[in-house]
Amino acid sequence: MPAIIRTNDLCKVYRVGQEKVRALNHVNLEIEKGQICCIIGTSGSGKSTLLNQLAGLEKPSRGEVWIGKHNIAKMNENQLASFRQKHVGFIFQSYNLFGTMTALENTAAPLLYRGVPRQKREKAAAKILREVGLGDRMRHMASQMSGGQQQRVGIARAFVAKPAIIFADEPTGNLDSHTTIEVMELLVRLARTYTITFILVTHDRDLAAYADRIITIKDGAIIDDRPNTPLIAYETPAALPPADTDKTAPQSGETPAKAASDSPCTPPTSQNQAGGIAE
Ligand code: ADP
Ligand code: MG
Repeated sequence: MPAIIRTNDLCKVYRVGQEKVRALNHVNLEIEKGQICCIIGTSGSGKSTLLNQLAGLEKPSRGEVWIGKHNIAKMNENQLASFRQKHVGFIFQSYNLFGTMTALENTAAPLLYRGVPRQKREKAAAKILREVGLGDRMRHMASQMSGGQQQRVGIARAFVAKPAIIFADEPTGNLDSHTTIEVMELLVRLARTYTITFILVTHDRDLAAYADRIITIKDGAIIDDRPNTPLIAYETPAALPPADTDKTAPQSGETPAKAASDSPCTPPTSQNQAGGIAE
């Protein structure tokens, strides 16, 4: 498998007053397409900093971050925002939902930003909400849902546009142990179903068991990097339960908005593959 993410001598230094905090220290890393990769380390080890550089949320102090053929460390803020919209999904510990919007509206939001027409947005959002087990909660306000349900909406929102890569920073940090297992199983199943590269950042060693690969970080540097046999083997889409029959592909006669023309929301013709990163 080719690398979808590659860093070259990645460094991040924060300045706090006169002090310098070296949060990332010459990180060289390659992550394969479709890999479920766990970045593990204690609090303050640099996990979130690494994720933020990989996802183009922050600018590195030095080095390169390649996503496909793009060196995102060179992009300006506008280019980065548009790149993230097209290719990247996020799941946060704190869910980051719009509390006064419904589960359906929250889930459909990334498609709205991509210019997907309303009917199509809602259809795709409803489909993925059913896949995360919230088919009967679509019209509920996010703020009225339990933590586990809110994180399922967060997951649906990250996956709805089938981005090439999804980043999750301590996604189960606010959940009890039972819900944590449910959420992890769901994440792994969806990542495998849609062949989405999934980068999980956590301090919780139990979560690393779900990954294909475990990278340990300490003081901003990789100190261990090893393959792992995942706890649950969802090897191929063919091995999965039957897919939802709902179709989100353009119907004949429809003219999708230009901005939506390359949307991963539109499934490719073969299998459930996520959209690739254009040149
Ligand atoms: P982790 O996610 O592993 O807990 P972080 O990546 O958040 O660790 O932080 C790594 C180091 O960088 C810590 O020492 C932290 O205090 C520092 N740090 C993170 N973000 C900032 C910031 N915005 N300004 C200053 N220091 C920061
Ligand atoms: Mg963190």
